[in-house]
Amino acid sequence: MDDNFEATEEVVSYLLANYTNLMTRSETAASDSFSLNRKRRTYQPTDSPWLSFLPFKKYFFPDMYRIDGETINIRQVNALMKDGYDAFIQNWIKRIVTEELDKIHFNCCIRCGRLTRTPLAQQCRFCGYDWH
Ligand SMILES: [Zn+2]
Repeated sequence: MDDNFEATEEVVSYLLANYTNLMTRSETAASDSFSLNRKRRTYQPTDSPWLSFLPFKKYFFPDMYRIDGETINIRQVNALMKDGYDAFIQNWIKRIVTEELDKIHFNCCIRCGRLTRTPLAQQCRFCGYDWH
């Protein structure tokens, strides 16, 4: 894959709406932490990944590091977050289209070629074409 690959906003929103099940535990923790940061920005102006984890106390207790049988590595999560949300999402997309492309169905309109809302949609949200 081209190093300069960048998913368009359309692809980003399609994958975030339909394929977050392809996030690893660390990616999910990073994503949760980013959204928590956004919600708290008004009264807690910090971008520190460490501080953003404070409300998730379970991540700080060693016996809670394993969640659903998988270990969350805080350093790995911080590394995922270090360049900000947009970079995190672009890197996630690069990873899944490289490693898990067989699990992704890019459902495109057969008339205009743009992405539908979901993998099973049979109507285009852009041109309105319906192929039920
Ligand atoms: Zn269309």
